[in-house]
Amino acid sequence: MTHEKSVAIIGAGIFGLSLANALRDRNYEVSVFDRSQYDENGYDPTADDVQAASADHNKIFRASYGNEIHYQHLALESRKAWVSEDENRGFSSGNIDDKRLFVNSGMLRVQPTDHLATLEKETLANMQRDGIRDTQFVESDTADCERAERLGWKHKLLHFKIPDSPEKSYEAVLDTLAGFLRCSNACDHYRQVAVTKGVKFHLGAEAGAVESLVKVASRVEANKQKVSGLKTKDGAIHNADIVVVAAGSFSTQILPDLSYHLESSAGSLATFKIDKSDTELWEKYSPERFPVMTWKSTPRDTSGKDTGSIYVLPRTPEGLVKIGYRGIKWTNFQPAPQGAPFAQNGQWSVPLPLKESSILPEPALHAVKQFVSIFMPDFENTPFHSTKLCWYTDSLDNSFVIDHVPTYAENSVFVCTGGSGHGAKFLPILGQHAADILEKGDKSTSFMRPFWRWRPDAPRRNGLEEGPGGPRDISHA
Ligand SMILES: Cc1cc2nc3c(=O)[nH]c(=O)nc-3n(C[C@H](O)[C@H](O)[C@H](O)COP(=O)(O)OP(=O)(O)OC[C@H]3O[C@@H](n4cnc5c(N)ncnc54)[C@H](O)[C@@H]3O)c2cc1C
Repeated sequence: MTHEKSVAIIGAGIFGLSLANALRDRNYEVSVFDRSQYDENGYDPTADDVQAASADHNKIFRASYGNEIHYQHLALESRKAWVSEDENRGFSSGNIDDKRLFVNSGMLRVQPTDHLATLEKETLANMQRDGIRDTQFVESDTADCERAERLGWKHKLLHFKIPDSPEKSYEAVLDTLAGFLRCSNACDHYRQVAVTKGVKFHLGAEAGAVESLVKVASRVEANKQKVSGLKTKDGAIHNADIVVVAAGSFSTQILPDLSYHLESSAGSLATFKIDKSDTELWEKYSPERFPVMTWKSTPRDTSGKDTGSIYVLPRTPEGLVKIGYRGIKWTNFQPAPQGAPFAQNGQWSVPLPLKESSILPEPALHAVKQFVSIFMPDFENTPFHSTKLCWYTDSLDNSFVIDHVPTYAENSVFVCTGGSGHGAKFLPILGQHAADILEKGDKSTSFMRPFWRWRPDAPRRNGLEEGPGGPRDISHA
């Protein structure tokens, strides 16, 4: 049975895919448009036509969210779905370095000093409250270490000396709920699931690239326009009852109404490549032996900002060890189009073109090298295999933006975006919450509804207040 309403989704990244699957489960007629030829490149992050946060070898899965307990709950819901999806695909056991989408490698949260930081204490308190404190292991806690030994996790409680105070070690917490997703593989899988369910994909630089939304006067709401469909680069018009903008860091360019709510900024990624013949390093950095590691080189400042945040993931089956620096998320200010509802000095931050996104600014390189020298000295003199800027879709408060856009009549435009650096882990279930919101608006029973609503009154913060010339502006880096 097909629902009477048709939905056209712009973007086949995590947000678009997840929503497409969930809406199809509710019998909507769903088509998805993406300018990348994902049916041919399988979300290969190195393909020439791919620029998407979701197209990446791996992303961190964590349920540790400080005092944002709603995201902790959402992450735990998603974890169950990842595990059961892998089980359904026949990958529940055996070698960890297999084709699983979710790998429970554990994650070591290394603290800035030899003490637990405030955020860490909040996380542990919330885990206690949810009855899952026993999944966390504090390095300096003897009882936790004994428990880790009994449960076979002790080898991932790695110890690191603090440079300049070698008598001290960094405090660290091993989170055994956490691990990573094989992100591109997961997108490829969920795209194929969607195809099987009957979602139609329009992909590629002509048939899949959306040039504009088609707007007409509403016959129902006076003085308002509704969106009746979209136009692709090949000139074709595709009509739909609801158009969803899920184009990640490109969303504001498709729908400038998002300009107040979102900003594109870049995270810095660098990889080393281990050759399989180097059996010692191959084993040492394998997901069986090496956890995801995160480190804040400095505590959060008084305004809650991180400036020293950095992480590394275990090596991939191809031998890649990826380090990500998010201490400074770089902005790229360019002239905003005439009529954009919000701009700073006439500018807004948008992604750099793909071919200009492979050089890391000096402070990012410095931070990565410092991290390597303390935590991964094996690579201290090894050149990077690759470097890349990967574009975030930052929101004003790090929560996603998933709602109808009130500017347009008849609920004809819905946005599903604002991943803010933590959306990948929710791929299996994000769309179910989003579909409920799309269908029921304020009557949605999703516990995420209040956090994801259209929020024009949210104060401009989270770095989005800085504007051109600010401390993160890549043209000054
Ligand atoms: C550096 C970095 C590290 C991250 N780390 C983590 C992590 O460890 N854990 C985690 O859970 N999350 C992480 N995230 C967040 C996560 O990757 C994002 O939340 C998620 O991938 C966003 O998905 P999306 O679908 O909104 O956007 P995207 O993945 O960017 O997809 C948008 C899609 O829209 C398409 N598109 C754009 N414009 C058009 C157009 N005009 N016409 C047609 N198609 C178009 C693009 O081709 C793309 O496929 C990270 C993000 C970044 C940038």
